[in-house]
Amino acid sequence: MGGTERKYVADAFDTDWIVPLGPHVDEFERRLAAYLAQDKQLLALSAGTAAIHLALVCLGVGKDDEVVCQSLTFSASANPIAYQGARPVFVDSEPDTMNISPAALADALDSRRKATGAYPKAIVAVDLYGMPAKWDEIEAIASERGVPIVEDAAEALGSRYKGRCCGTFGAFGALSFNGNKIITTSGGGALICPDEDSRRKALFFATQARENLPYYYHKHIGFNYRLSNICGAIGCGQMEVLPERVARRQAINAIYASELSNRGGIRVQGNPGSEYESNFWLTTVQFDDETAPERIRTALAARNIETRPLWRPMHMQPVFADAPYYGGDNAERLYRHGLCLPSGSVLNDKQIMRVCSTIKELI
Ligand SMILES: *Cc1c(COP(=O)(O)O)cnc(C)c1O
Repeated sequence: MGGTERKYVADAFDTDWIVPLGPHVDEFERRLAAYLAQDKQLLALSAGTAAIHLALVCLGVGKDDEVVCQSLTFSASANPIAYQGARPVFVDSEPDTMNISPAALADALDSRRKATGAYPKAIVAVDLYGMPAKWDEIEAIASERGVPIVEDAAEALGSRYKGRCCGTFGAFGALSFNGNKIITTSGGGALICPDEDSRRKALFFATQARENLPYYYHKHIGFNYRLSNICGAIGCGQMEVLPERVARRQAINAIYASELSNRGGIRVQGNPGSEYESNFWLTTVQFDDETAPERIRTALAARNIETRPLWRPMHMQPVFADAPYYGGDNAERLYRHGLCLPSGSVLNDKQIMRVCSTIKELI
């Protein structure tokens, strides 16, 4: 926590706003919208997963529709496709950003149209570990074919592509404020909507799809996805420290880069060009040797340093075994050669240097 969250939470208690709406939710939405600095409408929700789900609902994704999804990601990018009874079509990554490959995306869209007679209903593209995707190319491919994009920016609040904040690309964007993200409301998320109408529609589905009548009348299946005002209060405080949290994660990445680059056999993921400005939610590394990540992970764990494998691609998950997949083996290679390093903004320089020197010793 940054320090002021308690004050906002106390204010929520003092004014008795202990419900999943209220002035702190409104204020949190205003602060987020101001931070993103785009002409967008914010809807605070109970989770990032809920935001992705509502985006698909608003785009009319339903039973047996196909939805393209980046394979190298956390399962929460893909699960909402299944919630809607729709079918995921997984797509490979490109190695620069680790995000959806424009070439494989175009192939997936065109191939599915050949196979089924229609383009998939939507695309879920991710800014993985905070790194912006190749948005110019991805948006061009999608708009040429009239397929809307949902930007899963759950890990990328504070990241920018060509100066524009992640979360504001595509038709809808999703943010997460889960406990592990760059800022947190303990649990929470936000849907970034293109206009007031789509926000109203998303709010309708987020609050049980109750028709605007004096009695309870329902023509649609709704959800209970709004953010608690207590969590909104935490979010108001967190917005005050967001810039310093982003700066700290970026500084941690810079230490890893200067300590570990120019070493044989290991590459630190950095911004692949001047258009990209990752928040470096997590710093990841790639080892030449496929056996290195697990060997180094266990050796670091024995020294009380926690690291984690990269997300295991969705096309390699038993639960999605039947889903079509387009592309090559980039996602699988990144997964097999990669490792996520300690990146929390509470870590000081000395602690990061200890991680670096231990890794250098081990390789
Ligand atoms: C955390 C995360 C989500 C889900 O967010 P929750 O708030 O935990 O529901 C979705 N996608 C990615 C890539 C994430 O890292």
